[in-house]
Amino acid sequence: MSQGTVLVVNSGSSSIKYQLVDPVGGRAVASGVVERIGEETGSLTHTSGDTKVTRDEPIADHAAGMRAILATFEEAGPDLSSAGVLAVGHRVVHGGSVFSTPALVDDDVVAQIEAISPLAPLHNPANVTGIRVARELLPHVPHVVVFDTAFFHGLPEAASTYAIDRDVAREHGVRRYGFHGTSHHYVSQQVAGFLGRRVEDLNTIVLHLGNGASASAVRGGKAVETSMGMTPLEGLVMGTRSGDIDPAVIFHLQRNAGLSVDGIDDLLNRRSGLKGLAGENDLRGLHDLVAQGDADAQLALDVYVHRLRKYVGAYTAVLGRVDALVFTAGVGENDDIVRELTCAGLEPLGYELDPALNEGRKKQPTVVSRDVSRATIVVYPTNEELAIARQALEVTEAAGLTGEGSDEAPAATGHA
Ligand code: ADP
Repeated sequence: MSQGTVLVVNSGSSSIKYQLVDPVGGRAVASGVVERIGEETGSLTHTSGDTKVTRDEPIADHAAGMRAILATFEEAGPDLSSAGVLAVGHRVVHGGSVFSTPALVDDDVVAQIEAISPLAPLHNPANVTGIRVARELLPHVPHVVVFDTAFFHGLPEAASTYAIDRDVAREHGVRRYGFHGTSHHYVSQQVAGFLGRRVEDLNTIVLHLGNGASASAVRGGKAVETSMGMTPLEGLVMGTRSGDIDPAVIFHLQRNAGLSVDGIDDLLNRRSGLKGLAGENDLRGLHDLVAQGDADAQLALDVYVHRLRKYVGAYTAVLGRVDALVFTAGVGENDDIVRELTCAGLEPLGYELDPALNEGRKKQPTVVSRDVSRATIVVYPTNEELAIARQALEVTEAAGLTGEGSDEAPAATGHA
């Protein structure tokens, strides 16, 4: 910790998740979450080493949430003033067409993130609130924003363009941006090192399967395709999101089911996917239901896996040659059944899973394919917080703002 830490903040509409990260060693020094902001019963959970603190109390707004986090650091440790906080790294969901890299926060950057809000009405305003509050409470530390979309900023136009009227698309920013970029970037880079290959030489398909889920095709370290689009709704079947759907379903529901646009938004984002099909969005619960003979759960699993396999096939075609197929995030790292079903029968495409190697949850990077498999199949745990911390530090170092390793570092004035 002597070399300093980065406080990573992920501010959602009713929660703030945070982690104090040692960016060199990669260790989470402390972490926690404030939940149900603005509701009658809020809570804060904070973990630091063996110490775990839980507080149930109403948390009025994000400012109160951030103050509660800082107070908990003072009480339960570690003491932030001696933890050498070099930067605060903020996760921001949508960087639009503006941000292709992380940026040092100033008023201009905050205004630009706000201007992108129509593209991410639930996420960007919450991110901005978190940034504002954190800058007020930690004014002497540089703040850096890291965008979920940035890794996909350079997608080939053929992949990022929707085939709709080009003037309408341009005027309203309707194109494919991609999300989970921090994870896809981190995992595709790390896997190259893990396999002893240069990232420039490696073609990789990454399957980030959490509650939200996305796939990417990465050629030589650059993303060339991804399954999420203008918003995180497109692509794979997810915990509560439909993923790909005929857009005309929306017209149909509005005209014939008496649903408003907001109602359909809620349906497709929060009441669909595994939850919509089986009433259960967690794969662990879903497998239990399947084991009990629940037909809806079986169909949900079949639809989930069918979509995944279609994407693996499509991205194999996009890349031509695939060197690594990587599973990551909560489902990808822990669910050997999903991994097995995804790869079953794909030997002709070059994917040969080894059932024995695949078995069980993987806390460490693990090769799960046979030696003869043309593509190496890998489970690689993602670490978005560490990736954000490292990028935040790079930006502050490039701007000459670190070196003190204390909260006395000068406030940010410009942006990269
Ligand atoms: P988020 O998208 O919320 O960041 P995570 O990457 O943490 O999600 O993934 C959460 C999901 O991972 C859960 O909803 C569950 O489906 C799945 N998951 C977690 N642990 C296991 C497990 N042991 N076996 C199967 N699935 C798991």
